[in-house]
Amino acid sequence: MYNVWENVLAEIEQQISPANFSTWFKDTNLISTDGGHIIIGVKNSFYIKQLRTRFIDLITNSLTKNGVTINDIDFEVQQTTKSKVRPREVTAASDLIKTKVSFKKSQTDNNGLNSKYTLDTFVVGSNNDLAVSAAKSIIDAPGTRYNPFFLYGGPGLGKTHLVQAIGNELLKRNPEYKILYTPISHFYSDFIDAIQNGKGKEFNRKFEKLDCLIIDDFQFIVGKEKSQEEFFNIFNDLYQLNKQIIVTSDRLPSQIKSVDERLASRLTWAGAFDLQLPKFEDKCAILRAKAELMGAEIEPEAIEYIAENVNTNIRDLEGEFSTILLMSEVRGLTPLELINNGSANINKTTKLHPISSKQVVEKVAKYYQLSVAELKSKSRVSNIKTARQVAMFILSKELSMSTTKIATEVGVKDHSTVMHGISKIEKDLKLNFTLRDQVEAIKEKIYG
Ligand code: ADP
Ligand code: MG
Repeated sequence: MYNVWENVLAEIEQQISPANFSTWFKDTNLISTDGGHIIIGVKNSFYIKQLRTRFIDLITNSLTKNGVTINDIDFEVQQTTKSKVRPREVTAASDLIKTKVSFKKSQTDNNGLNSKYTLDTFVVGSNNDLAVSAAKSIIDAPGTRYNPFFLYGGPGLGKTHLVQAIGNELLKRNPEYKILYTPISHFYSDFIDAIQNGKGKEFNRKFEKLDCLIIDDFQFIVGKEKSQEEFFNIFNDLYQLNKQIIVTSDRLPSQIKSVDERLASRLTWAGAFDLQLPKFEDKCAILRAKAELMGAEIEPEAIEYIAENVNTNIRDLEGEFSTILLMSEVRGLTPLELINNGSANINKTTKLHPISSKQVVEKVAKYYQLSVAELKSKSRVSNIKTARQVAMFILSKELSMSTTKIATEVGVKDHSTVMHGISKIEKDLKLNFTLRDQVEAIKEKIYG
């Protein structure tokens, strides 16, 4: 059906080994790209995790290169006649897979809202309570106190869910309310389309009549001056009419390169709300809520194990959770039994590419355009020092090496210097988005 998928596959095929390609991609297809919600069909649910953890960047890049705009990517298990693994009975875990992967049906047409995102299912915790309370005020009185509502935070922390929930709730209270949810990338491509087809005015009109505009992933505006200007105009028009404007981004406007300063400051006029990494208790609460929602049986110890071992984001937390539930269904063991017998070892399964400490140091040095000798030198020049500390951080987090071993590896005196280095990076990562990008880019080089 989708020619574009063939192009995407051709692209991917060039970038990974033939064995990987035929294992993971041969039986995939593109089910939908509606509204930027990409749905990829796979043979069975074990593929989902692999595709997500190992190949999601590759898939994203190839789709983008082929002109597909992406808001989020989901996977749907395609029913095939020769499916060998048949769960003995339909239990909660298979329901999960269904709700998780097939939201195409629950999607409404052209306002971009997806009814699967509700406030009821958004667990409130210390990582998001301020943002949620602002969201509730907006639902009660849109276009007033929190206008514009600027929500930011790293990937997989709930931005899309929360702003979609606001949209859905507003619509529920007033079905006449005109809402548009759009990722900024769609805004951009629609705008370019409209201009090219001489329909600039119509494009404008579409926004003029809105009561609420929700723009997702604003960070992708980078370097798109014309659409930025257009967005600024629309923003001003709506704002003056007290229409609610909601914008999400992975960082603050001032940290997005090439965003007009006036626009940047206006976006945060009413404050900026962030979604943070969930703490252990938050993660447990989220998992308990998911289990309850699905009516799934899972031991508290298993929930704690997952919460303790997934430290990236909520999307990954959900991913591990569904994998364990599914495995439990297929193997006929409880989640805790699987964890105890080692077959649900999250650390082992998420670290797919074994890599040596020497390679890590080399990659980090190369990223900062240094030689390994420079990285390991006693130099206190700031970028060399940063490179050294980033290396310590990655060796500790990704390879779980001891601080004493790390000291030898990066050429510092003792383990306390390493501990200091790691905690410095940990602290800086919270606020320094450039550093965050650097660490992500290095990890990509390591695992890519
Ligand atoms: P982002 O847009 O920030 O990348 P998403 O909104 O797509 O993140 O969230 C990733 C996944 O985690 C989604 O499936 C979402 O439903 C879930 N999620 C995030 N935060 C929460 C929460 N507080 N409670 C329940 N589910 C959450
Ligand atoms: Mg999102």
